[in-house]
Amino acid sequence: MKEGIHPKYYTAKVVCSSCGAEFETGSTKQDIRVDSCSNCHPFYTGKQRFAQAQGRVERFNRKYGTQQKDAK
Ligand SMILES: [Zn+2]
Repeated sequence: MKEGIHPKYYTAKVVCSSCGAEFETGSTKQDIRVDSCSNCHPFYTGKQRFAQAQGRVERFNRKYGTQQKDAK
């Protein structure tokens, strides 16, 4: 590798803010926070967890006055 142009590479601690899981990965940052991880994401758990995602969509729709209609 060329000297002086590469960022420092850390073993970063990743903390999941949904389930509190911690794991390590390689990164140029030392601490990483994620909203969901492989421990709690529905894709990996096979369980549906609507609370957060749906709340955001509803908030967006309320704010911008959009209604979800089946306009087919
Ligand atoms: Zn998680």
